[in-house]
Amino acid sequence: MSQSDARQMYSNGTWVNGEGAVFDDLNPANAGIFARVTGATRADMRRAIEAAHAAQPGWAALPHTERARYLLKIADLIETRQQDLIAQLVDEAGSWVGKAAFEAGYAPGIFRAAAASVYQMTGEIVPSELGKVSMLMRQPLGVVGVISPWNFPLLLTGRGFATAMALGNTIVLKPSEESPVTGGLVYAELMEQAGLPPGVFNVVTCSREQVSEVGDELISNPHVKAISFTGSTAVGRIIGARAGGLLKKCCLELGGKDALLVLDDADLGLAVNAATFGTFMHQGQICMSVERIIVHESIAAEFTRRFVANVSKLRYGDPWDMGKVIGPIINAKQLAKIVDQVEDARARGARILLGGASHGPYFEPTVMTDVTRDMKIFREENFGPVAPILTATSDDEAIAIANDSEYGLSAGIITRNEVRGLAVAARVETGMAHVNDSSVNDEPHIPFGGIKNSGLGRHGGRPAIETFTELRWVTVDRGRHYPPPFVES
Ligand code: NAD
Repeated sequence: MSQSDARQMYSNGTWVNGEGAVFDDLNPANAGIFARVTGATRADMRRAIEAAHAAQPGWAALPHTERARYLLKIADLIETRQQDLIAQLVDEAGSWVGKAAFEAGYAPGIFRAAAASVYQMTGEIVPSELGKVSMLMRQPLGVVGVISPWNFPLLLTGRGFATAMALGNTIVLKPSEESPVTGGLVYAELMEQAGLPPGVFNVVTCSREQVSEVGDELISNPHVKAISFTGSTAVGRIIGARAGGLLKKCCLELGGKDALLVLDDADLGLAVNAATFGTFMHQGQICMSVERIIVHESIAAEFTRRFVANVSKLRYGDPWDMGKVIGPIINAKQLAKIVDQVEDARARGARILLGGASHGPYFEPTVMTDVTRDMKIFREENFGPVAPILTATSDDEAIAIANDSEYGLSAGIITRNEVRGLAVAARVETGMAHVNDSSVNDEPHIPFGGIKNSGLGRHGGRPAIETFTELRWVTVDRGRHYPPPFVES
């Protein structure tokens, strides 16, 4: 495969071939080639970083209203390309068409919220006992490196860089090798269309084989001042350790094992719908998917009966078919992980009430009971359409089960008593918790993020301004008295 037939990457406002190997970007539904994409080397990455570094002072010096105008233009351009983006999200990322429509529809809001953040990059005047004018000022960091995942490529890539760019940083993005187009090159096209100055936004693509070398340059290059990473805990840990050793800022949005707690006074219809949506949307490939349903034992039988009936309506198959909400699993490795966890559960005594098998790239919507805490399905992120049900005899026990996890991203709590729901929410160890809803929730202006092994730092909202700026103390003195030995006589 020659570079000349491959999709090019975007560096310093120009479409270029990388010096590495071209790689295939596959359609997960049929294993056909969605795109062939140029592959970068460390040197390609370095050039993109240098371009971003050279562009940064000019970008930061633009009036904030000008930067906001670019972000708003990108939002409008995304809206004009909805149908095209939906099609690419289905064919590249295996998104069911309804999920693709949601994602393409959500993305403009990310850029509008980011545009608004330019007005919130405020400082403070603080008191000075020396009579100084003493100011705390926010400044952009410089070049921000962005590494994004494949599951919501348009949404999560946008979230990874939009606020950072709005605040005067320039961007070098390395999208996932599973979604280099919808998580990367599409944005380069939009930036070009918006007339963004060269070097402000760069996309460097590479295969999984090249990623440790290319990724290392992104993290370790001295011009890169911070990393915005969304992906697995395993990779996030490597990136966080490398960045930490170099004393660089790192915002890490990582994996999850979210619980839905169904209390004994729950509206069962609401609980069934929240559990079904939370577990099976995008065939469970959402960081905040419901991965453990913890039901009070007094209602467990009735909940399980209704839940199984509801889930049995879900069909798997061609993601273009509106009636088949369970699309393909992204790749064979992820599918093998789901199979392994389900088989481990079965071998350890779980009862599979529905599903449990794979068919080509699809995994059947699966519900299991008699799940115990020694099973992989209880501990490890599944990222598939699998619902393990556990029971608890009290709120305390449900909370203890939910908290028995290395992860802490989001949670859902279903109860007719909002005060009780809030009390449970306060005790669940997660970055986010939702009463009377599934754990799957996001809005563009929300500081999204987890605790424990689900991440560090927040994307979105005011906290994102802290994440992607430096706080500096700047003073003006008006007559300091130095100690006499230092003073001219
Ligand atoms: P992944 O960790 O395998 O890959 C994420 C990104 O890291 C990709 O771009 C990949 O190419 C890159 N990468 C891999 N090794 C690297 C290295 N050595 N140096 C630099 N970059 C490297 O994750 P994934 O499979 O793409 O995404 C699924 C995971 O992401 C799940 O664990 C999911 O929970 C998590 N996720 C978290 C959030 C969140 O907001 N918390 C959102 C979506 C996905």
